[in-house]
Amino acid sequence: MELKEKGLLLVLSGPSGVGKGTVRKALFERQTSLQYSISMTTRAPRVGEVEGVDYFFKTRDEFEQLIKEDRLLEWAEYAGNYYGTPIDYVNDTLNRGQDVFLEIEVKGAMQVKKAFPEGVFLFLAPPSLAELRSRILGRGTEDEATITRRLEAAREEIELMDEYDYVVVNDHIEKACSRVEAIVTAEHCKRSRVASVYQKALESDQ
Ligand code: 5GP
Repeated sequence: MELKEKGLLLVLSGPSGVGKGTVRKALFERQTSLQYSISMTTRAPRVGEVEGVDYFFKTRDEFEQLIKEDRLLEWAEYAGNYYGTPIDYVNDTLNRGQDVFLEIEVKGAMQVKKAFPEGVFLFLAPPSLAELRSRILGRGTEDEATITRRLEAAREEIELMDEYDYVVVNDHIEKACSRVEAIVTAEHCKRSRVASVYQKALESDQ
């Protein structure tokens, strides 16, 4: 019989401007069996962003309807816009035995932890706060008020590191990707996870 394991729910989070999106994109450009959960957002698409690839772009009314109908695993308001994770996609993919990868901000990650404590929580950390500032400034697409708001949020977010299972320092994108891949491999080898699958197989054989 096939010993089918349920997929892992991997959550990559961390402070604003740390490079979550960049690491996620680089990770998915590599050969990966991870399934990326595309988020819903009310933010306007940036140049080059594609509906259904980068995000599902929604109006505030549509998003609030999704909240009301409990269709989101988590959601947060961030820099004036809603962001959220569609729950059906996550459940269906995990039940098919595939690993789901979320790249979300920290308030949402903490909601996932409550709803789904068996998830694997990865905190992407900046090599230093100074570098974080220059990365945000270097992005060049945000105004002063947005930058200040993002930095303030970052200070609070860093204190949240304690809530995570792993810390991945984003000193170098490819190295950060390799660390994430190593964590995924290790999680699949965890005795508790492997043993429960064998246990189920033994029970169903009796
Ligand atoms: P951006 O507007 O730069 O694409 O994303 C802003 C922030 O929202 C990033 O920190 C990103 O990780 C986060 N984000 C993207 N999708 C989601 C989501 O579904 N839920 C939550 N809570 N945050 C998200």
